[in-house]
Amino acid sequence: MRTLPTIAGLRAALAGARASGATIGLVPTMGAFHDGHLSLMRRARARCDVVVVSLFVNPSQFNDPADLAGYPRDEARDAGLAEDVGVDLLFAPGPREIYPAGFATTVSVAGLTDVLEGAQRGPEHFRGVATVVTKLLTIVAPDVAYFGHKDAQQLAVIRRLVADLNLPVTIEPCAIVRDLDGLALSSRNVLLSERDRRRALALSRALDAAERTVLTGARRRGPILAVAQCVLREAGVSPDYLELAHPDTMAAVQTIEGGALLLVAAHFGAVRLIDNRLLAEQQPHTHLPESEVATPVRAPTSA
Ligand code: AMP
Repeated sequence: MRTLPTIAGLRAALAGARASGATIGLVPTMGAFHDGHLSLMRRARARCDVVVVSLFVNPSQFNDPADLAGYPRDEARDAGLAEDVGVDLLFAPGPREIYPAGFATTVSVAGLTDVLEGAQRGPEHFRGVATVVTKLLTIVAPDVAYFGHKDAQQLAVIRRLVADLNLPVTIEPCAIVRDLDGLALSSRNVLLSERDRRRALALSRALDAAERTVLTGARRRGPILAVAQCVLREAGVSPDYLELAHPDTMAAVQTIEGGALLLVAAHFGAVRLIDNRLLAEQQPHTHLPESEVATPVRAPTSA
């Protein structure tokens, strides 16, 4: 594996493969790799001739300077993990490479960025995400780019911008990877205290409870949200939002007809976590291809 800090170096490294018709897969990340990131890389490895992982902690998508300053970083460890799963190129630019002096162009996706994470974190968050992802897709020009369902609204924003801008790339969504106790893996989990990590389990338990309610026939928003809210309340968790929304538009929905996302975000101390579950009228997961089914990967770790 080669680590490349410049756009010119990356493009030069890909030129031969591209000319020979090799398929190029891109996994955009902000580093601090865990098994969620690695599952995306493994999927890319299985399906593409050349796998590129980008590692860039994008300052423009952080609405909270303390969150940016405290974001976990360990490029040497990340490089080792990426190499172990067979990544070919690690693109690890500095902020000046991505945002040189005079940088003035942004990409903003209207509508679905106004709610949920957009409402909580402000318009700069998804503008930052959309801009950096558009740049990465333009820099790497992959055939396929891999994104996690973990960031469900981000996935919807990226699908929208790829369609709207006619970018020639296939977006491959990947299942949420969880610890054995249900906590969705996140780079921020290492920042949780032991007590907050236990409390954070209420997020996946709330999603589980809602899913069980659907299995017993619930279809409407009110009862589904009430069940999830009850689990959160019992754990003393007051969510930033708990919402049932359309997976593509993120608009609130009144029933789960055709499939709806239950999304939750909450603070645990200074650490903000998100999670979500697709609720459908079928049995859970039976409607999903194998690659979209979440897999517990390892024993839970305490912070
Ligand atoms: P990040 O480094 O947090 O920006 O994440 C990079 C990519 O990994 C995004 O597409 C995320 O949705 C995805 N990702 C993060 N956590 C998980 C997880 N637990 N399971 C699956 N994908 C994830």
